[in-house]
Order: sequence, then C-alpha cells, then structure tokens
Amino acid sequence: MRSEGLIEAQRKAMQAASQLNLKVETEVNAAMKPENVERIRAAHPDLYDPSIASLPDGWTEAVKVFLEEFEALGEGMMSPGDVSFERTNSGLKAHIFANPEMKWTPRKSWELLKWQRVLYKSVRDVCEWCGKLDAQPVQLGERVTFFLCQQHRTSAEEKLTAQVQAFDARVRFREEVSVLFQERSTVWLNVSDHNTPILRKALTDIKKIVVDRDLIGKIYVTKITESEGQLFLSVRYDQAVDMASRLDVDDIIHHAQRLSDEASLKANRGGHGDDA
Ligand SMILES: [Zn+2]
Repeated sequence: MRSEGLIEAQRKAMQAASQLNLKVETEVNAAMKPENVERIRAAHPDLYDPSIASLPDGWTEAVKVFLEEFEALGEGMMSPGDVSFERTNSGLKAHIFANPEMKWTPRKSWELLKWQRVLYKSVRDVCEWCGKLDAQPVQLGERVTFFLCQQHRTSAEEKLTAQVQAFDARVRFREEVSVLFQERSTVWLNVSDHNTPILRKALTDIKKIVVDRDLIGKIYVTKITESEGQLFLSVRYDQAVDMASRLDVDDIIHHAQRLSDEASLKANRGGHGDDA
C-alpha cells in the first residue's frame, strides 16, 4: 500500500533529520473554520467548549448533531451538563460531565450513551477535510490516523510526500556541507523559506574555499540564527587560517546577511495575513 511506503520514508527522513539536528514538521491537519465554530457556539452557547475549535472542519455536522441530541436530554431550561471533545485515532470521543441536579433516568442515560457511541463511530466515515461520507482511515504520520475521502487521501499523501522530500533534501544538503561543522555540532540548518536559498549559497561558497584551499578542520560555522527574519552566521577560524581566506569568508557572510535583510523586509511586507 502506498501510504505504508510513505510512512517508512517519513520515518527514515525523521531519523536522519534528528541525527543532524534538523527540525521536522508534519502538518496535514485542517482545523475547524472560524465561521463553523461560531455557528456551533451560536446554536449552543451553554454547551460550547473550546475543544470544539480544534476539531477537523469536516466533522462540524457530526458535532452539531451530537450537541442537539445532548441538549434535548436537558429538563426544560436545565442544561444536561458539560461536554468536551477528544479526537482519537479510532473516532471522536465526547466526554460528559453530567449535571447532578438533573434526574438521569435509565432511558436518558441510555440515550446519552447511544449518542456518544454514534458520534464516536460515525466520524470514521466522514472526511475530516470536506465532510464527504466516503472516508476511510488513513495512517499518515507515525501515530496519527486521518479519516479522509479518496480525493483528500491523495492530496494528504502528496503533501506528506512533498514534506518527506523536503526533509531528504535538507539532510542531503547538511551532509554535503558537513566539513563546515564540528562533529556533533548542534547548529541547525532550518531557516525561513526566504533565507533557505541564501543560506545554501553561502555555505556552498564557504565550503568551496575550505576544500580548495585545504582548510578542512580549520574553519567552522558555529552558529546560524534568525532574528526578525534576518539571517546571521558565525564562523570560527583556526589560527592557521590566512588573512585572505578569512576576508573571503567574511565577505560571503556579509553578502548573505545583506541579501537576507532585503529578503526578510520583502517577506514581512508581503507576508501579512498569509500564514497558510
Ligand atoms: Zn474529503
């Protein structure tokens, strides 16, 4: 099955990445749209719980149906209690804190259990992303199961494949420039998108100097940081490194930092409200 190969690839990339101190993220989630959260809150202000906002958008209707049935168990103006939701790998749990003031007849208790069970099981058929009813469980991450329709299963797999390829590319690049880092160095190479090409070019250029001039083990990159989107690099020179090489490497760093300054200004300007 395709997703198993994908999980294996993801696991390998994560292992390699963690050995090399690269940051890894997997994000294929789709949280509930604010307008749907508001719709639920408006319909059931007394029963609204913050856990609802973190549920997948495609499960909005299932949550609404459950809340309607739960509310109907109340007595007149009396609320049946509080509820919070927990997404699990096998379904959606509704945890109930029943109102002790209310009379919980066996029939009402049974009704409540029934609707909890309906909710728990029914979401498995509902696509988390679009709410379509032909969903199937898809295991995508190491521990996470998603419930997705055919279309979104394909798109989630593609998204994850792209992430795995991006990890692999980072791992390969880290290996390519490994002569610039001390053994067990904890320098991280993950930087913002706008700084990635700038960092790569700088490290590749420094590596060329180090290798061509026989300076392996004498010049190390000791720090790569970002502050407000701007990239900063620090380098340590061994006493044996000649002045010309130091100046050349310093030039590369200054040039990279200048490019990053411009790129971060541009990214900040164009980036507002565009976090997707
Ligand atoms: Zn879907």
